[in-house]
Amino acid sequence: MTATVPGLAALAALSARIGADRRLVQGAGGNTSLKRGAAELWVKASGKWLAAAEREDVFVGMDLAAIRRGLASDDAEPGPAMRLSAGVLRPSIETTLHALLPHPVVVHVHSVNAIAFAVRQDGPALVAERLAGLRHAWVPYARPGLPLTRAVQAVMHLAPDILLLGNHGLVIGARDTTAAAALLDMVEARLALPERTAPAADMARLAAIAAASGGGYRPATLNEAHWAATDPISYGLAGRGALYPDHVVFLGASPMPRLDRAATAPGPPPDAALLLVEGAGALLRQGLGAGGEEMAACLGLVLARLAATAPVAVLTGRDEAELLGWDAEQYRQSLNAVVS
Ligand SMILES: [Zn+2]
Repeated sequence: MTATVPGLAALAALSARIGADRRLVQGAGGNTSLKRGAAELWVKASGKWLAAAEREDVFVGMDLAAIRRGLASDDAEPGPAMRLSAGVLRPSIETTLHALLPHPVVVHVHSVNAIAFAVRQDGPALVAERLAGLRHAWVPYARPGLPLTRAVQAVMHLAPDILLLGNHGLVIGARDTTAAAALLDMVEARLALPERTAPAADMARLAAIAAASGGGYRPATLNEAHWAATDPISYGLAGRGALYPDHVVFLGASPMPRLDRAATAPGPPPDAALLLVEGAGALLRQGLGAGGEEMAACLGLVLARLAATAPVAVLTGRDEAELLGWDAEQYRQSLNAVVS
């Protein structure tokens, strides 16, 4: 499919390059798209990894005009009737955002540099300074999907080529894939932040605690995941709450379970999939897949870019409940669970 749609091979190549860089996307996060005129939108499928874009079909063809008509008239997510390509792939949850932007090529990444700005209360001012001279806009946090698309609609009068999505990530729009790659590189260079060096993980202690968990946990395999627990500043920041949607979706609701230095064994495995052991490293719930591993590493990479004094804005309990698809009653029960 990729080979038969003009322009899609180039986008697949850029997607694979982006997907290979954990500091830009993690797991199935992030997405790219190509518009062909006003009729076709080729967008990454939900659950597919950008890293695989040159190895397998990851793009879904959608009826761009129909999606745009839907955006103008109601609040419906694009349905199967708007799909142009055969197959079972579902379009990314961020498809309406791609359709909304006028640019022929749109790239959305969960860049850890961008996220480190996106989670700060003073993010808008800092980003305005870093991106001075570039057409950009800050978009306050909204749940991925139509709520986020509506939030982006509210800044479209600025005609931005760059969107900084609060508590989420970065979007780049350009006239073609080459220009998109160049703009992404430029924005990344402008937003680059130093990465605090974290002490090495204490694998012996992690193994002991994992054993004491009765097989509920195992040490994380990606080194960056441990940083959130071995670096004292990062460990402290991690206790504030979830910072961006994919963390909640892949690793569970707040509070993030943490074990302090004196602890020798965790309680029963909680709902959350990530357990930070202070000074030792990260344990992950047995059975957690590669996507969860990547999200644990993302946390370490983001926190390593934030100072202890950073005015961090975390997702609210209601934001998290929305992301997990909880109804009002489940949300209420989760609040009770936190209190008790
Ligand atoms: Zn996203």
